[in-house]
Amino acid sequence: KPVIIIVVGMAGSGKTTFLHRLVCHTQASNISGYVMNLDPAVMTLPFGANIDIRDTVKYKEVMKQFNLGPNGGILTSLNLFATKFDEVISVIERRADQLDYVLVDTPGQIEIFTWSASGAIITEAFASTFPTVVTYVVDTPRSSSPVTFMSNMLYACSILYKTRLPLVLAFNKVDVAQHQFALEWMEDFEAFQAAISSDTAYTSTLTQSLSLSLDEFYKNLRSVGVSAISGAGMNEFFKAIEACAEEYMETYKADLDKRR
Ligand code: GDP
Ligand code: MG
Repeated sequence: KPVIIIVVGMAGSGKTTFLHRLVCHTQASNISGYVMNLDPAVMTLPFGANIDIRDTVKYKEVMKQFNLGPNGGILTSLNLFATKFDEVISVIERRADQLDYVLVDTPGQIEIFTWSASGAIITEAFASTFPTVVTYVVDTPRSSSPVTFMSNMLYACSILYKTRLPLVLAFNKVDVAQHQFALEWMEDFEAFQAAISSDTAYTSTLTQSLSLSLDEFYKNLRSVGVSAISGAGMNEFFKAIEACAEEYMETYKADLDKRR
């Protein structure tokens, strides 16, 4: 059965470029994968998608028909696509024997997928049928300040608890800035406290207690440094995915079987 890799992250974090890199890597390593595009508004894709939301829903038409702005158009397109998602699942099931991975790109604006009913429906449809892993792409150079880092981690944290699926943090763009600082902050609570107190006057008790809660969250995930441009970290990434797929079987799948 293929492992589903749902790629989420802030707009501009590099999801689409990262997916393209994953496609190149799998092709070069003789790993067979399917690629799915769930962004109805993307103009051009750097990879050929096996399943593309744009083949089913024309987002510009949806905007016109329902008199919506760009975000409403994207959300409504995703809703329309979600109503037919059982067909998508059947297509993958039919190919299941030949597939190792299904790589899923999501809309540029993160909340359209992570905070919508259709995003939840799609995620659950995947997760109730296949081992499913969420990859949260982080723009490493833009997360170097402790406060941006923390808000990014809080977002990832909310996704982990909302989906209850195994999560990989992919610190992207390590060709521009190494992710060493992030690993230090995640491993050493005091190092993060020190960084945050030297960063402006941001030493409220809220920040302190938030970072304390994040400590618990870090224990529940894996993180890798990657570069969608240079291709660094691909093997580590797939190792993390492998471990997450096992975790899926032990936790999510076991839970699912119990409830059935
Ligand atoms: P998305 O909105 O998350 O899908 O982001 P895109 O994949 O469209 O990438 C946003 C921008 O970041 C583009 O200009 C990419 O070229 C750039 N980018 C993506 N990954 C990397 C990377 O690993 N290194 C560098 N230097 N730039 C990257
Ligand atoms: Mg994109």
